[in-house]
Amino acid sequence: MQAWNKISRMPAGAISKMQDELLQKMITEQFAVRHPYYRNLFKESGINAAEIKGVSDLGRIPFTEKKDMLAPPGEPLYPKQFVIDPPSEDEEKDKKKGFSLFGKKDSDADTAKYRFASLYFTAGRTAKAVPIEYTGYDLENLKEAGARAFDILGLTRDDTLINAFSYAPNAYFWQMFYSTLGIGSTALQTGGGRVLGMEKILKAVDNLEAPVLAASPGYARFALQTLGHFGLSAANLERIIIGIDFAPMEVVESIRKLMKSVGTKNNLVQRIYFNSEAKSGMAECEPGFGYHINPDHLLVEIVDPESGTVLGTGEKGEIVITNLDARGTALLRFRTGDIASGGLVTEPCPNCKRTVPRIMGDIERKEHFFKLQGKAGEVLLNGNQIRRMMFARDDVLVWFAEISSSGAEDYLRVVMKNVSETDETAVLKAVEESLKAEYQLPFTVESSSLDAIANKIGLEKLVTEQNIFDNR
Ligand SMILES: [Zn+2]
Repeated sequence: MQAWNKISRMPAGAISKMQDELLQKMITEQFAVRHPYYRNLFKESGINAAEIKGVSDLGRIPFTEKKDMLAPPGEPLYPKQFVIDPPSEDEEKDKKKGFSLFGKKDSDADTAKYRFASLYFTAGRTAKAVPIEYTGYDLENLKEAGARAFDILGLTRDDTLINAFSYAPNAYFWQMFYSTLGIGSTALQTGGGRVLGMEKILKAVDNLEAPVLAASPGYARFALQTLGHFGLSAANLERIIIGIDFAPMEVVESIRKLMKSVGTKNNLVQRIYFNSEAKSGMAECEPGFGYHINPDHLLVEIVDPESGTVLGTGEKGEIVITNLDARGTALLRFRTGDIASGGLVTEPCPNCKRTVPRIMGDIERKEHFFKLQGKAGEVLLNGNQIRRMMFARDDVLVWFAEISSSGAEDYLRVVMKNVSETDETAVLKAVEESLKAEYQLPFTVESSSLDAIANKIGLEKLVTEQNIFDNR
């Protein structure tokens, strides 16, 4: 952790200098020579790797998109194009040792670093999942990133944690797994609802007197709302860490309120942002202060989702990542499809004083924006906004929305189940009113049973629930 103590307090100028050096090293020693896809791309686009001296030269390299990584039909091994080749035996012998940064020994020629260890997949439901290879080296970095995330969250090894992220080849469950491993805290890796089920997870929270629960926002809400139904207590619960799914401040607030209403010991809610491609999770010290980036693992750019122009400090845009210290699958200027509403900032965090860059605001998924056919032309429907609105409601237990077309016009159908002690008619009316105020589209609001909705949204079946369906 000494290196982290140093990195997390370095002045912004020193951080950007470090990133320039790491980028140059990663490009000349890995991407340009050992990475099949980028080696080829550099050659085809006439990019001279030696001329990329730092972040300011990155614009010369085109973006990589998820579609570039998808295997064409009949080429299942295509994603290997994105995996760094191990050095040859000769190379290993010739390799000179030298350059060392922050005490990290440079033994790049060590083939063990390049050896495949684990396979995770990109998130996202509309596009096909892309396999992301992790090597032993990457898992070590994941552990380090986990220890740092816990440092930022203010967790110690004494905090027993219930990991209720879904067990899946996805970064959230595993980053949390390696975080607890890295710090040596007591943790129950439940595998989430689809492995253990809600009742057993809640029993674990109760029996282990665990102060920390990590879950998707929808699942955390559902857990708190069904606690009473199972006759269980969360009296020792102090904080919930949410991630994996859209977690705007409204949702943080609604979970806080729910924690208070069920009588938890404290009602802290914190957010994390992980993605499989980044290979390095990010945490917020307090909601609203931004996801703290590991600047020695990852370079983040924020770009205009339409034009690709790199945006300035604090401007809303798409998160683009470059691995600065990875083996296995490695990416250069990868467009994540995640939109940071508050962009990127580099000034020290006003809350924890750490100096690492931070991704600000709520992180929306690009795939949740829908273009709808309205009476007077195209209407943009921000599904993130519907989720923000619905998840912030205390009176709605579960819900989903469907987009359908009636020919001339698209319309929205919202189906929900209200919380048991509320009046169904009143809740339906209230949801209808808020939708009417927000959207210029025809829509209907109706109620259904908990079972039917839980089934539809994949509660305890999918990695995280699906709330918006496009039936067109
Ligand atoms: Zn902070």
